[in-house]
Amino acid sequence: MMDLIKENCTACGACSNICPNESITMIPDSEGFLYPYVCKEACMCCGLCESVCPIINRPDCENTSDPKVYAAWSIDEEVRFNSTSGGLFTELAKAVISKGGCVTGARYNKEHLVGHYIIDSEREIPLLRQSKYVQSETGNVFKHIKERLDKGKQVMFVGTPCQGAGLQSFLGKQYDNLLLCDFICRGSNSPKVYMKYLESLKKQYRSDIKKVWFKNKINGWNKFCTKIEFENGKEYYADRYTDLFMRGYLKHNLYIRPSCSNCYFKGFPRHSDITLGDFWGVKLNDDESIDTDKGTSLVIVNSSIGQQCFNSLGDRIFKKESSLEAALPFNQCAVKSVDMGEKRDYFFSEIDKEDFTELINKIDRNEDRI
Ligand SMILES: Cc1cc2nc3c(=O)[nH]c(=O)nc-3n(C[C@H](O)[C@H](O)[C@H](O)COP(=O)(O)OP(=O)(O)OC[C@H]3O[C@@H](n4cnc5c(N)ncnc54)[C@H](O)[C@@H]3O)c2cc1C
Repeated sequence: MMDLIKENCTACGACSNICPNESITMIPDSEGFLYPYVCKEACMCCGLCESVCPIINRPDCENTSDPKVYAAWSIDEEVRFNSTSGGLFTELAKAVISKGGCVTGARYNKEHLVGHYIIDSEREIPLLRQSKYVQSETGNVFKHIKERLDKGKQVMFVGTPCQGAGLQSFLGKQYDNLLLCDFICRGSNSPKVYMKYLESLKKQYRSDIKKVWFKNKINGWNKFCTKIEFENGKEYYADRYTDLFMRGYLKHNLYIRPSCSNCYFKGFPRHSDITLGDFWGVKLNDDESIDTDKGTSLVIVNSSIGQQCFNSLGDRIFKKESSLEAALPFNQCAVKSVDMGEKRDYFFSEIDKEDFTELINKIDRNEDRI
C-alpha cells in the first residue's frame, strides 16, 4: 500500500500505471493537483506502487555530469516562431517520426486542460508544440509507451524532469529505442487555478476561448507574452508583467505544485537523454549575432543516445557549442527549486470565493492583510 508523503508526490503517474489491479486513481486535491488515491478494497498490497515511485526509489542514472551544451534553433522560420524557444522539440520529433517512431508530449484538450498523448505523424507535431504552463496529466500513457517500446518501435518522450523519471522507473530497464527528453522546469501550475484564470478572461471577453498560446513571439521571444484567442474573434495579449497568470506564477510563486519547491530532479546528472530550455542571456556571450529575439534553445545533451539524435538533425538547425557556465547563470531553475510564495496559503484560501483577476490584483496591491 502506497505510503508516500503528499508534499513530495509529483503526480508522475508511475504508481497508477503499474498497479496490476487498477486500484490507484489520480484525484485532484483542494488546490487542483492530482494525487494517487488507493482503493483499499481493490488493493492486493503487492507493493509495486511503492517500489516504482521515483521519489521513494530514485531510478539509476548513468548519464554524464559533464554534458555537452549548445545554443540552437530550427532554421525553419515557421517552426521557430511557433515554438517556445528555438524549436528544437519539433526538429527532434520530426527526426524520430521520419524513422517510423512516435512522440509523446503534452497537448491541450477541448477544455484547454493539458494531458500527455502519443502522436505518430509529422502532421500532429503542432498539437504537442509549445509550453503549457499547467501540469499535464499523464493518464495511462506510460503503459502505452511500454507496449510500443516492447514491439521495437522508436519512442520519444517529452515531459517535466519528474515525469521523465517516473517513466524510467515504470519501465524498469534501459531501452535503446527510447529518447527521453525533459526541459528545465520552473514548476508545474495548478490546473484548477489555470481554469479559474481562463474563466475570469471568458467573463471579461464574454466569449469562450479558442486557443491559449503562452510565450507568443509576435513582439519578440524576450517579451514572454500570453496570447488568447476567443471564439468571438477578440484577442487578449499581455506580457509577463501584465498577464495576471504569469504574475502569480513568476512574481508571487502562488500556485506551483508543492513538490516543485523541493524538486528531486534538479542539477546533474540528469535522467533524460536531452534537456531543452531557453538560452536566456545568449547574447551576452562573445558572438553577438547569435541573439535575434526569435528564440534560442538551450540544448543539454546528457547521453550518447541524445548525442546521436541531436547530431542527426544536421543542417536543419543552427547550432553553436556552449557550456553550462555560460547557460546556468541565466537559468537557475536547472539546478534550484523555486520557493513557494508567502501569499500562497492566502491565495488558496480565497480562490474559491473570489474572481482570479480580482484576487491577483488584490495580492499585487498588498491588500490581503496576511
Ligand atoms: C511548466 C514549464 C516550465 C518551464 N520552465 C522553464 C524554465 O524555467 N527555464 C527554461 O529554460 N525553460 C523552461 N521551460 C521549457 C521551455 O519553455 C521550452 O518548452 C523548451 O525550451 C522547449 O522549447 P522548444 O522550442 O524546443 O519546443 P516547444 O515546441 O516549445 O515544445 C515544448 C515541449 O514541452 C512539452 N510540454 C509543454 N507543456 C508541457 C507540460 N505542461 N508538461 C509536460 N510537457 C510539456 C510539449 O509536449 C513539447 O514537447 C518550461 C516549460 C514548461 C512546460
